Amino acid sequence: DDLADYALTARGLTKQFGGFAAVNNVDLSIRRGSIHALIGPNGAGKTTCFNLLTKTLAPTRGTIIFEGRNITNLRAADVARLGLVRSFQISATFAHLTALENVRVALQSQYGKSFQFWRSLDAVAPLNRRAEELLERVGLANARHLAASDLSYGKKRALEIATTLALEPQVMLLDEPTAGMGHEDIEPITDLIREAAQGRTILIVEHNLSVVSTLCDRITVLQHGELLTEGTYREVSSNPDVISAYMGG
Ligand code: ADP
Repeated sequence: DDLADYALTARGLTKQFGGFAAVNNVDLSIRRGSIHALIGPNGAGKTTCFNLLTKTLAPTRGTIIFEGRNITNLRAADVARLGLVRSFQISATFAHLTALENVRVALQSQYGKSFQFWRSLDAVAPLNRRAEELLERVGLANARHLAASDLSYGKKRALEIATTLALEPQVMLLDEPTAGMGHEDIEPITDLIREAAQGRTILIVEHNLSVVSTLCDRITVLQHGELLTEGTYREVSSNPDVISAYMGG
């Protein structure tokens, strides 16, 4: 095991709210090219951990290393630019835009610095082409001219993945990508995540253990803000401590 095998690592990650440690001294190692899940019962600290890793929250203690670089003190926008990108829900602001326009907004932010360049050349065509490619990739080619707000729940999640992919992340973090989905939506989304994992690393917070078992190479289990165990699905699901954590122990 070489540190160079990992896209993202955290050491001693801690977040206190007042005197309460929502995340306490957690070590994480996310292997490059893997699909890694963060699981645990409600209140285990998954969301807090996710927000710490994407620099949405500042840690109380600990160090985060992304591709060999200490990002502990960087801002969310800066780590996103480096290639560590979280998916965001299509906000109310963008809900009236079409699927295609949403992806174009993401592409324009990706080419932020050179946007003047695009405009000056009046070169919207390549942006549109790239946006259409991304929509096709997530199965939304036929929905490209629909407003985001008019898409089904599953298609909204797919659009969020397309806008995240527009940022060309090396590491993509997905917060509960199948939350609230029926069975018919879960399979296309897991296929899409598997496809999006080609050539990149994915970290997901996921409640659905059957999704975790079919999708994820490695699983980190949190409980009460602490690392309970880490391993393959087989390993963690047969761990008595994990079983009792899930049974409320
Ligand atoms: P999970 O995502 O695993 O359900 P969270 O990270 O949301 O867990 O929360 C972990 C613990 O930290 C919970 O007890 C929660 O109430 C607490 N917590 C989360 N965010 C805050 C906050 N901003 N202020 C105070 N307590 C918080």
